[in-house]
Amino acid sequence: MTSPLKSRFAPSPTGLIHFGNVRTALFNALLSRKSAGIFLLRIEDTDAARSREEYTQALCEDLSWLGLAWQEGERVGGKLGPYRQSDRVSVYEKHLESLKAEGKVYPCFCSAVELEVSRKMQAQSGQPPRYSGKCAHLKPEEIEAKIAQGISHTLRFRMPKKESIEFFDLVRGKQTYSTDEIGDFIIRRSDGTFAFFYVNALDDALMQVTHVLRGEDHLTNTPRQIAILEALAMPIPQYGHISLIVDGAGAPLSKRSGSLSVQELRAIGYFPIAVDNYLARLGHHYESNELMDLDALAAGFEIGNLGRAPARYDKSQLDHWQGLALQKTDTKTLVNWLEATVGGIVPDCDMEKFAEAVRSNVTFPHDAKLWAEAIYSDSMPISDEAISVLMETPSAFFEQASELLETDFKSFAQKVKDATGAQGRKLFMPLRAALTGQTHGPEMPRVLPLIGLERARARLLRHVLNKDVD
Ligand code: GLU
Repeated sequence: MTSPLKSRFAPSPTGLIHFGNVRTALFNALLSRKSAGIFLLRIEDTDAARSREEYTQALCEDLSWLGLAWQEGERVGGKLGPYRQSDRVSVYEKHLESLKAEGKVYPCFCSAVELEVSRKMQAQSGQPPRYSGKCAHLKPEEIEAKIAQGISHTLRFRMPKKESIEFFDLVRGKQTYSTDEIGDFIIRRSDGTFAFFYVNALDDALMQVTHVLRGEDHLTNTPRQIAILEALAMPIPQYGHISLIVDGAGAPLSKRSGSLSVQELRAIGYFPIAVDNYLARLGHHYESNELMDLDALAAGFEIGNLGRAPARYDKSQLDHWQGLALQKTDTKTLVNWLEATVGGIVPDCDMEKFAEAVRSNVTFPHDAKLWAEAIYSDSMPISDEAISVLMETPSAFFEQASELLETDFKSFAQKVKDATGAQGRKLFMPLRAALTGQTHGPEMPRVLPLIGLERARARLLRHVLNKDVD
C-alpha cells in the first residue's frame, strides 16, 4: 500500500499570520484535501527569543477560522510527534550524532569577524559567499585543544565536493546547484541552537511529509536540505516553491502596502470563504470564477496551475469575493455578522428583516451602520445630495405623501404619483431622501416597514415644516 500524500504547514510563531503565509497554508491544505491525504501542522519555534505561545494559539485559530483543518500535528497530535520543534531537541541531537560519527559534520572555530572578512574578500573578487573550509580538516587533537581553550564553535555540514544537486521543483521545474558554490554551512550554532536547514528538513523526513509547498524565498535552501537528507539516508519530499505576493508597485507585500493579518481581516468582517477564494486564485489559476467551498477549491487545485510570476495583491479582487460570499450567506450568519455593529440600533425583532434589506448594500458590517441609522435614528444623517433633492421638492409633495402613507411602499408610491403627478426620479428620490436621508440605498419596499408609519410620517412632515420655517 502506498502511503498517503502528506503536506504540511510549518510556521514560525513569531508574529500574526499574514496573506503570504496563510496562502502557503491554504495551498498545502488544498493539495492534501484533493487527494484525501494528510495536512500536518508543525510549529517551528526554535527561535526562543521571538517565538510566542500567543502566536501559536492565534495561528491555530486563524487556520480553523479559514476552515483549513489539519489532521496531524499541533493540538491534534499524531504518531510522529512531538510537533513543536522546541520539544524535539533530543531528536535533533540524536541524528546529529550519526552525522558526526560519519564525519559529515565538523566543528568550526572561526569567529564572526573572521567569517565577515572572508565574505568581504569573496565579494570583492566576485565570488559567491561560502565558507572557506578553514576548519574542515582540523585534526582531533587540534579540535580538543581549541575546545580546552574555551573557544566556542559551531557545527558545519560537510557538503559533498564537486557534485551537483538536482531536483525537480513542482512549480519551477528542474533545478541544479553546484555543491562547491554552496560550501559547508552551519547546522548548529555556537549557542547550541539548530539552524533552519537541518531541523526543517529532518522533521519533514521524520514526519513522512511527501509534499512541501512553500515560498520562493526558500528555493535556495532546498539543495542544502536535500544534501542533509541524503547524508542521513532519509526520504526527500517533493518541493514546490510558490511565487511571492507583491503589491501594486511590484514590491514584496508588506504591512505598509496593505498586507493584513488574518485577525485583521476577520475583525474587518471578511468572510473566511471569501479570503479562501481570493487566496486560492492568487498565483493559482482556476477555470471557474464562481465562489467555491473548500471541497470545490481542493478539487480544482492543480500544482500545474501554480504560476511562477509574482502574484499581485489587489484589494478590489478580495472585496469582489467578499461580495459574492455575502450574497450566498444564510440569514442567520448574516445577522450574527451584523450584530456587533448595529445590534444597539436595530431592535432584535427586526434584525433578520434588516439584514436581508441591507445585504446588497454592504460589504462589511460597518457599512450597515449608516442604514441602521437611516432607518431607526431620530437624528438620521442626511447627505448633501438628499438635501438638494429635498430643497427642490415642493412642500405640498411631502404633505400629500404624509397623508397617503402606508406600509406597502409600492402602493404608497403609486398613490403619491397619482396625487402629485410626480413620476420616475421626481417621485422616488424625494420619497427616499425624506424617509432615509440618502439618495440611494436598500430597496424601499424592505426599508419602509422597518421605519414604521409613525417615524415615516414624522420624517415626511419634517420637510414640510422645515420649508415653512425657511
Ligand atoms: N518556518 C519556516 C517559515 O516559516 C518554514 C519554511 C518551510 O515551509 O519550509 O518560513
